Amino acid sequence: MAEQEEIAAVPAAVYRPASIREAWELKRKFNENAAMIAGGTLLQMKREQGIAFPPCLISLENIQALQAMEFIEDGAAAYLKIGACVRLSALRKSLFVKKDWRILQEAVKQVAAPAVRNRATIGGNICYMSGDTIPALLALGAKVAWFSERGLKMDTLEVFLQQARLHSNTILASIYLPKQPPENWISFYQKVGRRAAFTPSLVVVSVCAKVSNENHISRIRIAAGGGAGQPKRLTASEALLEGAVLSEEILAGVYEKIMEEYDPLPGNFASAAYLKTAAANLIVSRFARFLDREDEADE
Ligand SMILES: Cc1cc2nc3c(=O)[nH]c(=O)nc-3n(C[C@H](O)[C@H](O)[C@H](O)COP(=O)(O)OP(=O)(O)OC[C@H]3O[C@@H](n4cnc5c(N)ncnc54)[C@H](O)[C@@H]3O)c2cc1C
Repeated sequence: MAEQEEIAAVPAAVYRPASIREAWELKRKFNENAAMIAGGTLLQMKREQGIAFPPCLISLENIQALQAMEFIEDGAAAYLKIGACVRLSALRKSLFVKKDWRILQEAVKQVAAPAVRNRATIGGNICYMSGDTIPALLALGAKVAWFSERGLKMDTLEVFLQQARLHSNTILASIYLPKQPPENWISFYQKVGRRAAFTPSLVVVSVCAKVSNENHISRIRIAAGGGAGQPKRLTASEALLEGAVLSEEILAGVYEKIMEEYDPLPGNFASAAYLKTAAANLIVSRFARFLDREDEADE
């Protein structure tokens, strides 16, 4: 009974600050007794699993700066700025995202079901640290802006993920996705779960690379994640492909490097060895299909 009461507990207070600084000051004041809440889908799911809400929730819903999405052209550079509280359903429908950041749309489409995506935010997906959109954002070279002790700071998503683990007061403000120049790119996102749809991920991989007509690879980013592990870039595997001409020999080396480099967290349904092999197979087979397509065109 005591356990049921704890699960049913509602937070003692919900604060609705109007600015990021105000939210951050509340978090600093209440510290471990408070949590940010955006869409609330993850926090609600945890509550249903028996993890009670903290005494205070700090809702980010009234902070206008976190709600917008805009395309910005700044000299030669152009990027999409996405507020942390933009809903996954808005990203799924966005024509900008569909046209120039397709793998993010692929990733969003595969998170939960429409009812969850209508509430869930991109910031919540990232700050949950294992969100399935993170590999796509890493592959796309996302930068993010966040608020902490040192004010508003901007860096790569990789750096943010490290910092946010260390400092619980961090508030994610926005995500910046660079627009790739109109050249040839190989880009893909693949999520594997135990069912075909509406499934938690076991493995998620995403890749973005520029490829010349001679199959010369440059500006490659490979990311892998899934399950409860924190997604990450596979930089040693990227280094094998950067500057190389795609071939079966190179891909054999990349396979070995992913097996060596990727260090997934085993789950209830899959061992680390299984997850590693699945990630290596997914990544290498996509490049191999690209090569096969070239051969078919020659015949
Ligand atoms: C049925 C169901 C299925 C799901 N399936 C998937 C799935 O397939 N893939 C997947 O990736 N996820 C899945 N989720 C998990 C979750 O719903 C999503 O990750 C969602 O994007 C979280 O966003 P949210 O806005 O609801 O986060 P919230 O629940 O509001 O917050 C999540 C965490 O992030 C923190 N937070 C939120 N915003 C910020 C911010 N701006 N700055 C700092 N901290 C912040 C919160 O304090 C909390 O710790 C699922 C959830 C449910 C209920």
